Amino acid sequence: MTGDVVIAPAWADRRNPQVRMVCVPYDRPQYPASAGHAVSNHHGGPHMEEFDVIISGYGPTGISAASLIARMGHSVAVFERWPTMYGLPRLCSIDGESCRIVQAAGDVDQALADHSDVKWYHLVDGEGNVLIDVNFEKEKRVSGFYNRKSMYQPDVERAMDEAGRERGVQVFQGYELKAFEQDADGVTVTVEKNMRRYEGPQEDPKQYRAKYLIGADGANSIVRKVMKPEMDDYGFREGFLSVDVMRKGDYQFASETSTSICDPKRPISVIPIGNNRMRFEFLIDPDEDNTELLTPDVGYHFLESAWGITKDDVEIYRQVLYPFEAKVMHNWRQGRAFLAGDAAHQMPPFQGQGACSGMRDSINLAWKLDLVLRGLADEDLLDLYTEERRPHVTKVTVDTVEIGKVACTRDEKVIDELSAFLKSGGELPPPPTMPNLDFGILHRASGEVDRPAGLLGPQGPVEKDGVTGRFDDVVGWGFQLIVAGTDPLADLSDEHREFLAQINCVAANVGDGGDVKPLDAEYMEYFATHGVMGVLVRPDYYVFAGIRSLDELPAIIDDLRGQLKIKALAPA
Ligand SMILES: Cc1cc2nc3c(=O)[nH]c(=O)nc-3n(C[C@H](O)[C@H](O)[C@H](O)COP(=O)(O)OP(=O)(O)OC[C@H]3O[C@@H](n4cnc5c(N)ncnc54)[C@H](O)[C@@H]3O)c2cc1C
Repeated sequence: MTGDVVIAPAWADRRNPQVRMVCVPYDRPQYPASAGHAVSNHHGGPHMEEFDVIISGYGPTGISAASLIARMGHSVAVFERWPTMYGLPRLCSIDGESCRIVQAAGDVDQALADHSDVKWYHLVDGEGNVLIDVNFEKEKRVSGFYNRKSMYQPDVERAMDEAGRERGVQVFQGYELKAFEQDADGVTVTVEKNMRRYEGPQEDPKQYRAKYLIGADGANSIVRKVMKPEMDDYGFREGFLSVDVMRKGDYQFASETSTSICDPKRPISVIPIGNNRMRFEFLIDPDEDNTELLTPDVGYHFLESAWGITKDDVEIYRQVLYPFEAKVMHNWRQGRAFLAGDAAHQMPPFQGQGACSGMRDSINLAWKLDLVLRGLADEDLLDLYTEERRPHVTKVTVDTVEIGKVACTRDEKVIDELSAFLKSGGELPPPPTMPNLDFGILHRASGEVDRPAGLLGPQGPVEKDGVTGRFDDVVGWGFQLIVAGTDPLADLSDEHREFLAQINCVAANVGDGGDVKPLDAEYMEYFATHGVMGVLVRPDYYVFAGIRSLDELPAIIDDLRGQLKIKALAPA
């Protein structure tokens, strides 16, 4: 047997001709073309188009989910109530893990065309003294990217949208999901043309079928209204007047720093949006009528009085009021329907994690749906979506609320006490860290998650067969078996190799003389830090197991197979 890297056809990026398909020894047939097909209504009614997955909502969560699921070879339809992409930024920064998700969902370099590396997030008092210092410079690169990138959201959405459409996603823009029903075989959704921004004639409601439905339709999700999950409400309710500006001429922004000025008289946050734009957020009472704040004169007045910025320096291109809450739904699955993104959880923006969490939902659900849709895994696997994602997003939400309490306080005493404490030499606890994955499909030793299981796996620049680039682009996205110093497949049984091929696992030897040559120290440092010689990584980049010796690899693979409850292998 050779140690060739396995790239299963449907997961390889069809848009990158440079990446040569290496399908030996696990050459597999192409998945069916990803287009919907007409089926008879299960009640014997008119024919309806049927898809593997229907997604309600085409924000960052829906766009990423659609592109990833289509990349795995499944037919996907999206219904989005507005007729065009929104085209303006809501989120302004994402972390390294999310960059890697965008990489799988589209062209990440196109997505980050206008980006800056954010080095600090400072919460300061009214005099500019730093109260909380989040220093991204101290953090390691995560997932192959600097860990906090400010960027222009429309670029990110366009990159994933274009890739998704190339992969066969059918996007029905201007159609609102109104209702859905489930039965044993699938979901029937009812959609209506949204007449609010449409001049044409009213259309009759239409119905479509899918095996699964993802509600990625935001904070007011209709899918959630039907599912009626219980939720935890963390009692945070604040609002911002958000003034987004474009710089004029030579005017320069501090695009390396985000700042929240915790001045109880007027809390303000200042956040870069790539290199050319900036957001100024002024705290408001979300329960008052603030519509009079939505005129450019008010926006320019706020900018000048708070920051000394005038119309000569910048142009306001968007001014909007946002309420923020902190809520996490209990169950994100009901039969064949799922919640993802803001439909499943909402948090204030202080850690820049709302959309990142939505994209984490997308990739987590995508690979589980893939295994179930391909008939490899049992539907029970889909229950682990909530089990894995909810504790993760809950920690992020709770941490964000704690930061928000400082950033939004109207109580002078809170800030005065904090400032005095720091001036007297007191030290604040370090800022929150991102959670690891602690539940679900992870290798355990004596019942405990065996780290690095549950940590994010590495991605570095590599060279293979003369092609250089990020590992996922050059070698492949999917499960990844990466080992230093030896061919990880060499001593495996045929059955183990066949299992890895079935779940679309790529394999690589990144050690000296291996088939994949690392172009920096990422892999070796990672392995040394965790005392392993390799890792088996899930498609959402979380490590399933660290590999300390090749002898334990068969047992690790058996454990993965057992946890995924993979049915008897289909013939190769
Ligand atoms: C001011 C602000 C700053 C933020 N900054 C950051 C940041 O820096 N980093 C970060 O990660 N996050 C940030 N967030 C959070 C982030 O914007 C959200 O978490 C993210 O947009 C959620 O994505 P989503 O796709 O789940 O939902 P949404 O973006 O809300 O998209 C939902 C989509 O569903 C559509 N829809 C709704 N109902 C229906 C229906 N019935 N039928 C069809 N379509 C429907 C909507 O039109 C919309 O397009 C910020 C949020 C705000 C408000």
